[in-house]
Amino acid sequence: MAFDVSTVRAQFPALRRRVHGRPLVWLDAASTSQKPQVVLDAVLHAMEGAANVHRGVHTLSVEATSAFEATRDSVATLLGGVARDEVVFVRGTTEAVNLVAQTLGRARVGQGDEVLVTQLEHHSNLVPWQQLCAERGATLRTAPLDELGQVDLAAFTALVTERTRLVAVAHASNALGTVLPVRAMADVAHAVGAVLFVDGAQAIAHGPVDVNALGCDFYAFSSHKLYGPTGVGVLWGRRALLDSMPPWQSGGDMVAEVERTSATWREPPHRFEAGTPDVTGVIGLGAAVDWFQSLGPAAVADHDQRLLRHAMARLADVPGLRFIGEASARIGLVSFVMDDVHAHDLGSAVDREGMAIRTGHHCAQPVMAHFGLSATARASFSAFTTTDELDLLASALVRARRSLGLAR
Ligand code: PLP
Repeated sequence: MAFDVSTVRAQFPALRRRVHGRPLVWLDAASTSQKPQVVLDAVLHAMEGAANVHRGVHTLSVEATSAFEATRDSVATLLGGVARDEVVFVRGTTEAVNLVAQTLGRARVGQGDEVLVTQLEHHSNLVPWQQLCAERGATLRTAPLDELGQVDLAAFTALVTERTRLVAVAHASNALGTVLPVRAMADVAHAVGAVLFVDGAQAIAHGPVDVNALGCDFYAFSSHKLYGPTGVGVLWGRRALLDSMPPWQSGGDMVAEVERTSATWREPPHRFEAGTPDVTGVIGLGAAVDWFQSLGPAAVADHDQRLLRHAMARLADVPGLRFIGEASARIGLVSFVMDDVHAHDLGSAVDREGMAIRTGHHCAQPVMAHFGLSATARASFSAFTTTDELDLLASALVRARRSLGLAR
């Protein structure tokens, strides 16, 4: 079935909103996604008959448990057909990184060991590794970027040593859109016995993801960037690694047997899901995953790349505009600056025309440092984004420049 953007758009109530009297143009998908009606319905339905999961024998609890666990199956399929018990529900990508850093990380990384990240990581996939290294007396190494905002594989490889225990990289950069050569990085990491953690927060909504083809050991993403609710996300991990990891948080639901002074743990994934989970959020995520699958991730990726080519061509004509990050492999996202105009002023100017773009350091200050900037403007695309909207953005940026008194 051909990818029909107008059919996709009709499913998003947010797109019927007007902002400053104009139809909303949502170009901030990298920050969070708008939600299709099926997700809103699933969330409402879950809350209308609220019940806890895994605990009750009564009908509502059995229904909630079955809807909750169905999401695990949907996610297992989404990630390329992994085992359902390798799918752990967490609060989001940030929590997934912290979980791995504080369990597997503490067990594997010791004095004098090394953890390797890249210079384009979001703070969420950087600060927890900084903390781990500081705590363990380990060294954090950073693979550098080139002038296009790509991670040079040779430079990355040169930083992997016999002391490298863990490598943590983004699948795609939120600040630049760069897609990383994860498969090749996995081979390099595994050659020295290191574990590869992949932050999939940005890649997940832009096309197919097959964690086995990527060769990684962990993959994390947030529901809210995949058309689902906030407050929930996924950590996928290889079963043997999850088995080897101690619990992260403890309490109800993650224990097998509890005695007065001791307890034993359940198997993964439940070992890592202490307490009442975000039942509503997980059910909403399931609806989002099923909806995304119904579009076809490969068709979404084609659409995304068409949008990217269109945006690059149109924005290149905007006087004074300079792209930041021009990697050869990218998701649908463009970062840019404009001569003599602060990114925030651009953001405010286009907001007055109903357009949402993101401005700032995008929680990726090492990326900004690489380009000698404090902020960029970023337009990021959704499955419902149209080329007409990108034309509107380009003309709004030209008007913004003029309204700020810059002739060209
Ligand atoms: N990693 C990347 C690449 C991101 O873009 C983000 C969010 O913008 C995160 C991690 C953190 O995700 P969350 O705030 O949903 O935990």
